[in-house]
Amino acid sequence: MSSPALPPLRDVINRHGLFASKALGQNFLFDEQLLSRIAAIPGSLKDRAVLEVGPGPGGLTRALLRAGARVTAVEMDRRCLPALAELAEAFPGQLRVIEGDALAIDPATLFDEPYAIIANLPYNVGTALFTGWLSGEAWPPRWSSLTLMFQQEVAERIIAAPASDAYGRLAVLAGWRSHAKIAMKVHRSAFTPPPKVMSAMVHVTPAEMPAHVSARMLERVTEAAFGQRRKMLRQSLKGLPGALAALEELGIDPARRAETLDIGEFVGIARMLSPL
Ligand code: SAM
Repeated sequence: MSSPALPPLRDVINRHGLFASKALGQNFLFDEQLLSRIAAIPGSLKDRAVLEVGPGPGGLTRALLRAGARVTAVEMDRRCLPALAELAEAFPGQLRVIEGDALAIDPATLFDEPYAIIANLPYNVGTALFTGWLSGEAWPPRWSSLTLMFQQEVAERIIAAPASDAYGRLAVLAGWRSHAKIAMKVHRSAFTPPPKVMSAMVHVTPAEMPAHVSARMLERVTEAAFGQRRKMLRQSLKGLPGALAALEELGIDPARRAETLDIGEFVGIARMLSPL
């Protein structure tokens, strides 16, 4: 597919005065090869609907459009809108830009078909959106995949295995009804300005949801268990009605600590406490 010729991203930024705002967590990516590798993580995007959160000056957006995606981009920095409008003009009918705070938008209201979510976001916003998209009782979700940039340390927590220091609520949330992997590590020097830490792209696809388990209950169990992760389960779960009896029934030693339980064991406890 032939793509329209576009000016270098740095020129776009200079022309529109898009100096990176620290308050908005802006660290831009300019390396077009890296951006196309990121856009390739979810597989072929040809004719697929994509939600991009935080397009900024549009580096990743270009790569998505060149891959043939139909992109809806949500950006809260209005300074970026003219640059994004130019991009929409260069790829007629392929880019819709919405000015707004992604934290206040339910993406399901923007699409009437499955959509892939892709974003290079500030750390705090990314984690809040990620937990929101993975929570809720309805499953499978309307999104077909999440491909998100995180600080590497957070990415390690998302894919962490039991008994590791990084294992906690995020790993259970990401693992109990979806597959999460680190698809690519991204060096800090790839960003302008470079952040203090390394980053990684995490890719998540939905899996089958275990039967008779309330997502909210699983959340309550992991919240209690990891809220006091150094304590034995008999202590950390004692405030959760029925939890100690569930441990006994499941043959889980109440002297164990949260980080030793695998995801299946957390799901088992939540199932015993979930209304039928
Ligand atoms: N995607 C561009 C890139 O890769 O070069 C920009 C990445 S920059 C790390 C994050 C972008 O997310 C910025 O453009 C920022 O304005 C935007 N952003 C931050 N918080 C947001 C929010 N709550 N909703 C929508 N966009 C947000």
